[in-house]
Parts: sequence; structure tokens; C-alpha cells
Amino acid sequence: MSVKKQFIDERKQHHQVPLSKTCFQEDCRHTVPRVRLFPYIDESLSSAGRMSEFSSDKSVKLAAGPSLGTSKTALPAKKGPKATEKGLVFGCDFECGNLGSHVALNENEYEIEIRPDTNNSKHRLWFYFSVENPRANQRVLFHVTNFSKTKSLYREGMSPLVRSLKRPSWQRVPEKNVFYYRSPQHKKNYVLSFLFQFDDPHDKYYFAYSFPYTYTDLQRYLHDLEQRNLKYLRRELLCRTVQQRRMDLLTISDPTSVERKKTVFITARVHPGETPAQYICQGIMDLLVSDTAEAKLLRKYLVFKIIPMLNPDGVFLGNYRCSYTGYDLNRCWTDPSDWCHPELAGAKRVILEHHNDKSHNLDLFLDIHAHSTASNSFMYCNSTDDRALAERESQFPRFLDANSSDFSFQQSKADSDPNKEGTGRRALGQMLSSGVRCYTLEVSFYASTNSACKLVPYTQQSYMELGRNVALTFIDLYKLKQLEAGTKSTKELNRRVVAQTTSQKFQLKQQQRSNGKQ
Ligand SMILES: [Zn+2]
Repeated sequence: MSVKKQFIDERKQHHQVPLSKTCFQEDCRHTVPRVRLFPYIDESLSSAGRMSEFSSDKSVKLAAGPSLGTSKTALPAKKGPKATEKGLVFGCDFECGNLGSHVALNENEYEIEIRPDTNNSKHRLWFYFSVENPRANQRVLFHVTNFSKTKSLYREGMSPLVRSLKRPSWQRVPEKNVFYYRSPQHKKNYVLSFLFQFDDPHDKYYFAYSFPYTYTDLQRYLHDLEQRNLKYLRRELLCRTVQQRRMDLLTISDPTSVERKKTVFITARVHPGETPAQYICQGIMDLLVSDTAEAKLLRKYLVFKIIPMLNPDGVFLGNYRCSYTGYDLNRCWTDPSDWCHPELAGAKRVILEHHNDKSHNLDLFLDIHAHSTASNSFMYCNSTDDRALAERESQFPRFLDANSSDFSFQQSKADSDPNKEGTGRRALGQMLSSGVRCYTLEVSFYASTNSACKLVPYTQQSYMELGRNVALTFIDLYKLKQLEAGTKSTKELNRRVVAQTTSQKFQLKQQQRSNGKQ
């Protein structure tokens, strides 16, 4: 066993924090029943008929689907299809839903287009739609024809996620039924085709690009945290979005601690379709509010400021990258406007306030994203010619590499791409003093590589596990255990000195009394 794996296993044993039971929906709060799997079509179909036109060189086999439940929608579900309706009935009238159009090529084959981001037709990747009214055991071939990106993890073995009302845990469509190819019939665009067998005509099925995490999921999670009346947690309304949704700021720190604290600022989900970032952020929050010794240590020596969702409108609307107004907010940090990008203006204001007020001691900024073409998780930091500064910047990814088997220090890099000048990391790196470290954390939409060089698909749990590892890494980065040991030994020394002095004073008094008697 490698030293790194042993270290990580030990951490898992000693620092396991229970998964949050509050986020996903009421129907999976405590135990998750083993769900019936979807009956997928057998191999024989893929070598016959139309499927033989597609080529696939994928070799990675998928693990079983995640066991957590799925998002509860905030919008009322549409009424079911009428009994007389023919063909599949598509829908996306729920939170984060995204479907542009669909065309039936025949009763068992449909072409689907993703709805572009609101007010910005350039971005098309996230999809999340429902399908009703199938026949029992109907086999359907779906073609998603208008992705705005050409490179895709579908080439590495990724596949769409599926759940149904009766089977609410997300599962991946088996890789063997998924094809990603350049299609001459679609102006040489890249097309995702996947084959699915519907087994229950009375069930409602949902398909998604990645594990959904809605605005309402987050509001429910934060509400439940508030209900716990934790003395070390504060939730504030930082600002309202263009569509008047909440943008929350959390502060997690021990208010009774007298230590001089450093402040760590964390943001996530500026890109709404990058849902894995939200699970990581939740993993961080779960650990920080937990009752473990590590969480207590982190709260004693650090202040965590967390904006868990930087783009609530985009998330609600089912966008991939933009806000309601059509801006990629992660290119607007340099000069955000209060009326057009109020989320960023609010976030930037509070970060600069913390930076300018030296009592806050702002030390680190971390912005969490998901990557549509890379595997593993990794970081970008800002490039610098100063070797000492570069060494300091590399410490955080190095420690995380030691703590999390899916994180790769080798993939992490210093970045100076001019296209990324408006990102949080780059813009804040320019605005804040050089002592403040700024990072982008990326995680694959699909999988990480294990020690046998096999791809292991991420699940909702493993994204949250990465978040917990990120939080634990601050203990190493700031040497909190050494600090605590130093504080304890200083306290012990002080206690001994006080005890010794008291004893000496007592002896002196005794002596004076006996001298007086004489
Ligand atoms: Zn992103």
C-alpha cells in the first residue's frame, strides 16, 4: 500500500463526517433503500440496425450508480400526459430543467436540442429533461445534437444520468449504450446518442448531464443549518440577484476563540451547470460545522467566509455558464456592475472589505468549478516570477494531493492565459496584495484515476468527500496542530509558573507569620 493511500485511509477512519441528511430531499433523509435498476438493452441490439453505424472505442466500465437521491423540484410538476397522447412526452418545467426542442424521427428515435443559456446562445452543454408516456419495454434512441463544445468526456466513458419518480437515485446509462461522434447529417457537429429502455409506462423518467443540485436544494440545506442554532455559524443575505433570488454568505468560526485568525474565502457555482462544485462546497461546509476535533481546530484558528452559490439565477434557469442577463460571470470580476452583475459586485465588495480591514487577515481565496474534458481534480493558481511566492502558492495543492486520492498536484498549474483575466482567481490576484493566495479548484464531470490507472466515476458522495478533504487540508496548510500544541505547552508553562509563584508567596507568608510569632 502506498504511503499516500495509507494516509488517506487513516484519515477516512478517524475523520469520517456523516453525510448531510438535509440537502437532497425528504424521501432519503436516513436510509436509502436499494433501488431497482433500470433494465437496459442487451448487447445484441448495438450490433444490429442503426447502431452499427456508430463507432465506439470506449473501454472503461462504469460502476453502479450513486445511492443518494435526487433533487426535489421547486416548481409544480406538470400534469401527466393524457391517456390518448401518442409518443413520448418531454418536459423541462422544473428547476434547472433544460430542453430546447425535440423531434421524433420515428416512434423509437428522437432528436433533442439543448436550450442555450438565457440571453447568450453561445453556451450549450447542460441538459436536464423528463420523459413520460413510454410503452412498456420501449427502446428509444436519443440524439443530442447541438453541444457548443466538441471535446467531451463522453469520449472517455462518461454517460448521461437517469432517474425516475419511482427510482429516485441517479444512475449512469451504461457506457456501451452511449456514442459520441461527428455526424455528417448534422453539419459535422458532434452528437451524443444514447439508447434507453423504458420499463414502466406509468413512471416519469429524468435525464441529466450531471448530478443536479438546485437553488432550492441549497436554500433547504442552509435553512436546516440555521435551525441548528450553531454559535459558530452565521448566515447573511449578501445581496439579491437580478431575478431577486438570495445570494448567501456564510461565516464559520469560533466566536469565543481569542487567537489571531486568518480568513479563508470560498466561492462556488459561478457556472450553473458545474453542479459537482456545489457538492464539493457542501462537503466543505459539512466538515466545518461538524463536531469533530478537526472542525473545532479549524474554527478556532480560521474564519471561513463562504458564498456557496455565486449564480443563483443561472442555476434556477438551467443555464450552463451564464447568469440571467447572459454574462459569463467568471469573466466579469474586473469591473462588475451593481445592476447587471449584482452577485459579483456584492461578492467583490465583501472580499475587498475583508482585505482592506487588516484585522480580518485575508489569506486565501478559493473558487470551485467543474471541468468538462479533464479527469481528476486539480488546481490553477496565478503565475509569478517570484520563486518564494510560487513555492508558497504550491503548498495548498501539494497538501491536498497528500490528503485526497482523486486530487492531482501534477495536473495543477500556474496560469497566465489572457482569456482568463476576468476570472475570480486572476482578477482578485491582481487586486489583492501578493500575500493572498488565489486558486481555482477544478473537478472532473466524470471520473478520477485510481492507483491501477482505471477511471472511477465520481458520485455525489465522492464529490462531497473531496470537499471534506479540502477542508481538512487547511489544518496542514496552516500547521494548526503544531499551533495548538504550542498554545497548549505555553498554557501549561504559564499554569506551572502561576502555581510556583503562588506556592512561593504562600511559603513567604508562612515564614513571615512564624517570624512575627518569634
Ligand atoms: Zn467553471
